[in-house]
Order: sequence, then structure tokens, then C-alpha cells
Amino acid sequence: MPVAGPPDLQEKIAQFDRAIFLYENVAAYKLFGYAVATANVLLQAALLARAWSLPTGPAAHLAAILTAYLAADLVNGLVHMYMDNNDDYVSPAGPLIAGFHLHHKLPRYTDRPLPEVYFLESGSKVWLAPCLAAGLFFSLRPEANPFAVYALAYFGVLSSVAEVSHYLAHNSLSPAAAALARAGLLLSKRRHGRHHTEDNVSYTFLNGFTDPVVDLIARKLYSGYKNGTDLHYVNYKAAGRR
Ligand SMILES: [Zn+2]
Ligand SMILES: [Zn+2]
Repeated sequence: MPVAGPPDLQEKIAQFDRAIFLYENVAAYKLFGYAVATANVLLQAALLARAWSLPTGPAAHLAAILTAYLAADLVNGLVHMYMDNNDDYVSPAGPLIAGFHLHHKLPRYTDRPLPEVYFLESGSKVWLAPCLAAGLFFSLRPEANPFAVYALAYFGVLSSVAEVSHYLAHNSLSPAAAALARAGLLLSKRRHGRHHTEDNVSYTFLNGFTDPVVDLIARKLYSGYKNGTDLHYVNYKAAGRR
């Protein structure tokens, strides 16, 4: 049945329907996700091995972890903001973009062991693999700055941990996860709940520390998803496959 709405909205809904059909029925998209996940995890391991081979003191090590924590929260939040407001369903990445939007329709994940969540959700981080590959290339040079290599290695790992943090915010009732969220190390359910109930806010999902910065950027760049991309999956009925 045709959906009521302006012609451009109907067009976007039709484009979304086509893109999500490809996402769920063309095996190449699933295989691409596994390939990206494998590349990200291997690059994270290689960067950690390179970092741990370089000399550093405890203070510099701690500073690198803190820097990586802030950077991972910020950068992953910005990518989330960009993706939530991206409706280019006819581009080659269109099926991946449509698949990304399903989280707003079906916020709860399939329950899985956390290492599996870490791996599978790393497959959606297409942008991370080239960043880590470039970082590994520069980290292998003799003049590589140890602090930068440590920070990049932890940034890579924490970018995937952010996916686990987001999963826990939706699926977990574990007291340990709640305690880590209260301590500010992981994402709190309340903070992330705003992203789903309000519009154009709370995009960050490692621990939400950089939310105010991303909220400010989002207000400048976008009008929000509630009257944007959230309207495009109106026909989607399947249970999803996250
Ligand atoms: Zn979102
Ligand atoms: Zn969510």
C-alpha cells in the first residue's frame, strides 16, 4: 500500500526498501562485514603489539589511555551522527546505510556473548580499518612517537569497546555493567535513552563524555532523524538481523 507523504519522502521510503532488501538478501554485505571486522581486530592486535614494544612510562601510558578514551567517544559519536543523518540509499554503501538505520527501529540487539558482539559490531566500522592501517604503517617507522602509537592502539580497541558499551546499554541488566556506567567508563542507559526518545542528541556511545561537543556540532549541521531518516523505514517489518 502506498505510504502517504510528500513525493520526496515516498521516494526515500522506496529507496530504503530496496537498499534494506539488498542488505538482508545479498550475501556479499554480510561477508563484507566479516571482512571489515577481521581487518579491524587484526589491526588492533598489531597496533597493540607495536605499542607494547615501545618504551613508555606509567604516566605517559595513562595519558595515552585517557586521550584514546576521549577520542574514541568523540570520533565514534561523530560517525554515528553522520550515519544517522545519511539517506543516500542509492549509493554503493546504501544497503549498509539502510542497515545502520534499523537500530532506531529495533534498538534491542540479539543477545550474544560479549566477544561475539565485539567482533560482529566491529564489522560496521568501515572507516576504522583504513585509519588503523595508516596508523600501523606510520607506527612501524623508527621515528614513530611512542605516545601517539599507544594512543592510536587504544583508540582502535576502544572504538570497538564502544559498540559493546552500546550493546550493554540496550541489552544488559548486569550489575557490573551498571557499575561501570555509573563510574563513567561505559555508556549509561539514561544518557543513551535520550538518543532514542529525543531528536538529534546523545550520539556518543563509549561513555558519553563528549556528548556536549557532538550535540553542539549536530545542532549546527543537522535538523535531526525523527523527521528525517526515521521516517524511511516505515515499511520495514522483518525482525532484523543485528
Ligand atoms: Zn542513532
Ligand atoms: Zn542505541
